[in-house]
Amino acid sequence: MDFKQYITIVEDYPKEGIRFKDITTLMQDGQAYKKAIEELANFAREKNADVIVGPEARGFVVGCPIAFELEKGFVPVRKKGKLPREVISVDYGLEYGNDSLTIHKDAIQKGQRVVIADDLLATGGTIEATINMVEQLGGEVVGIAFLIELTYLDGRDKLQDYDVYTLTQY
Ligand code: AMP
Repeated sequence: MDFKQYITIVEDYPKEGIRFKDITTLMQDGQAYKKAIEELANFAREKNADVIVGPEARGFVVGCPIAFELEKGFVPVRKKGKLPREVISVDYGLEYGNDSLTIHKDAIQKGQRVVIADDLLATGGTIEATINMVEQLGGEVVGIAFLIELTYLDGRDKLQDYDVYTLTQY
């Protein structure tokens, strides 16, 4: 399936010069959404994932149905202040300034095989921070799955030690 035809490119959003890849039009098409998730779920299955981890919010849209398909658990990664129990956190760089991501401390067991899922690989900063937390908790990141890769941002350079699977590239 050509997934690109379901992804809408929005020029100059959220600011000038950015070509925003809008996946809501993919999600609106039941068959395309299902097919996309099935492909990523097959990757996670081949990796023998025990658990799927996804950063908010679009990582939920991708990660939760993969977990459901494989009958595995899903672990959310969220911005600081959103998870109610004890967390660990990692600061990560954004284009302007910094932010923190958090994960529940008891969400990953030592030695668990983790597949991380998100909508889009840009600079890789978000996923790098997510990997860092999963590994701090003793999880083994056995794969990382995205709908979209922006190859011109070289996010893969940050993820050289990992098996990265992307459905479509720009
Ligand atoms: P990054 O940490 O740079 O890999 O990007 C983090 C997140 O920002 C991605 O998972 C996307 O949700 C979002 N993002 C970055 N660039 C774009 C873009 N051009 N279109 C849509 N979303 C984007």
